[in-house]
Amino acid sequence: MTKLNYACLKCGKCCFKLNLSNADYIKRIPLYPEEANLLIEIAKKRGITFKVIEDLIFPDILNKKILIVTYKILFDKNTNGCPFYDNNHGCTVHDTKPLACKAYPLALKQVDAFNFQISIDPLCYYVNNHYDLLKNASFSTMKEIFKNEYPNAQNHLIKNKNLMLKIKQLEFKNKIKITRQISLEDFNKYLKEWEREELTTK
Ligand code: SF4
Ligand code: SF4
Repeated sequence: MTKLNYACLKCGKCCFKLNLSNADYIKRIPLYPEEANLLIEIAKKRGITFKVIEDLIFPDILNKKILIVTYKILFDKNTNGCPFYDNNHGCTVHDTKPLACKAYPLALKQVDAFNFQISIDPLCYYVNNHYDLLKNASFSTMKEIFKNEYPNAQNHLIKNKNLMLKIKQLEFKNKIKITRQISLEDFNKYLKEWEREELTTK
């Protein structure tokens, strides 16, 4: 493989909803509950409108609760971008931005209900420019090319795995019960009626 060294082009594209030419890809920026709460606090202090919506959730049919693993950033209706993005300065929460942003253009791809793996997001401008070289990159190649981002992607993956493990442990102790099969109708009903509980590794 030709030697690449990732350098962000600072185009800001990853902080925006998307100019969709390919409808297969939908931009989402996931946040763990504590990251969402921190950004909500920062936004309040700055007088910025910042909202999140539920992202990865599991219905617990034993306690009639929706367990929230991650939220995602709701893009600003006018700019179609993250409310923390500034046209002149880029990300204005650089030091406290979520793991998903620190890891980008590496992201977590869901392989089944409880398992994720590190992947390269083709929506990134840099990735797009080198897509033929990057599309089949192994994990060791990703680690070399995305030197600063890979450790953050690993932390993101470990956190995710720990939360999935917590779900399985709670199930094993019969404290929760996650449905493996659910109709869309029931799922929508539960979403409307059940309480929320944020899942953390604490
Ligand atoms: S938190 Fe920062 S890096 Fe992440 S989407 Fe918002 S502006 Fe972009
Ligand atoms: S889309 Fe890629 S190149 Fe552009 S700012 Fe985001 S990470 Fe950097």
